[in-house]
Amino acid sequence: MAKLVLKNLYKRYPNKRNKEQNDFAVRNFSLECDDGEFVGILGPSGCGKTTTLRMIAGLEEITAGDIFICDARVNDLHPKDRRIGLAFEDYALYPPLNVYDNIAFNLRAKGVSETNIRAEIMRIAPLLKIDDLLGNRPVSLSGGQKQRVNIARAIIRKPQLLLLDEPLSHLDGKMRQVLRTEIKRLHKEINCTTIIVTHDQLEAMSLADRIAIMQDGQLQQYGTPLEVYNNPVNEFVAGFIGEPPMNILTVIITESEGRFFFTFQDNDFRIAVPEDYYPVVRSGMTVRLGIRPTDLLISPQEKGSAAVRVAVFENLGEECRVSIKAGEEFLTLTTTDEIRYRPGDIIRLEVKAGRTYLFDPVSGDRIWGESR
Ligand code: ADP
Ligand code: MG
Repeated sequence: MAKLVLKNLYKRYPNKRNKEQNDFAVRNFSLECDDGEFVGILGPSGCGKTTTLRMIAGLEEITAGDIFICDARVNDLHPKDRRIGLAFEDYALYPPLNVYDNIAFNLRAKGVSETNIRAEIMRIAPLLKIDDLLGNRPVSLSGGQKQRVNIARAIIRKPQLLLLDEPLSHLDGKMRQVLRTEIKRLHKEINCTTIIVTHDQLEAMSLADRIAIMQDGQLQQYGTPLEVYNNPVNEFVAGFIGEPPMNILTVIITESEGRFFFTFQDNDFRIAVPEDYYPVVRSGMTVRLGIRPTDLLISPQEKGSAAVRVAVFENLGEECRVSIKAGEEFLTLTTTDEIRYRPGDIIRLEVKAGRTYLFDPVSGDRIWGESR
């Protein structure tokens, strides 16, 4: 178990594959993970997650910045001396060796005695539910089983840090769910500071104590799942966290009889601006308005609601999604009501009090209301 601190990390690849993107794969990335914490690094493909993990492990040279494990600077420490367990998305098991020998491989290379290796494997195998598979070759294992062996191999050396890079991305839906739960349990049992890298927000939200959200090599926000969901600092984070994603539309602030309204383009539909925002809005201002699909309600009453026409209705079994057209874009809400709508039906929309987000249309930064 160890505390990990990343300070202003940069990575520039000399042979950058994608010249179009900014020069640095990782830029000014700082992060602190507490002893025993489970941290998720979340972001779209190519944003620098794997590069960050490889720098922590010592597999990639750091262009600038510092890494501390247990308060010791490890920049110049050899990967094998960092006591890190690594499991990448491709399992890379040795095909001719059975599961037992695959797990034992690195311990044998380090000269650990067969007695101790056996004791360790017998300790780890039940944790990952692979006790029955020890004699099997990798070719006979399912994807989920291979990933379990892969993780067993990573934790057998009792690392002080466990790094998991998209461990579930090759698995199908059901298996992902099962292994996700197992990883959570495993983390509780071995109590090892763990970083999981993923592009799947649901995975990060369900596993991690805190999530670091990255875009273009830069940290956007670091917080608990609830913090990043409820208080995203910018439009990128707001749009990345949540399923179905937050509705984020361009609206103009209009004023009528001393009250402000979010007015949708090419549409007579408008929503009252909560008074919290009065100090930060003015008439004629363009903002990006964010509303989560669960925060839009179909209202039984006229007061405080707006009449709109249903454009799309999807029945997903447990919930339904209703979309209305707002200019060129769609505004979607989820409901668990029994009522089935048809395109063209008129409904009345209401926004849950205090559940709107405003973003600057140029910078994407959150515009905060008074209640902050
Ligand atoms: P992620 O894991 O978030 O998908 P990566 O860390 O793999 O992202 O990559 C971040 C950026 O660095 C990408 O633009 C990628 O093309 C580039 N990159 C990654 N590895 C190399 C490399 N060995 N050489 C050059 N560019 C690389
Ligand atoms: Mg990656």
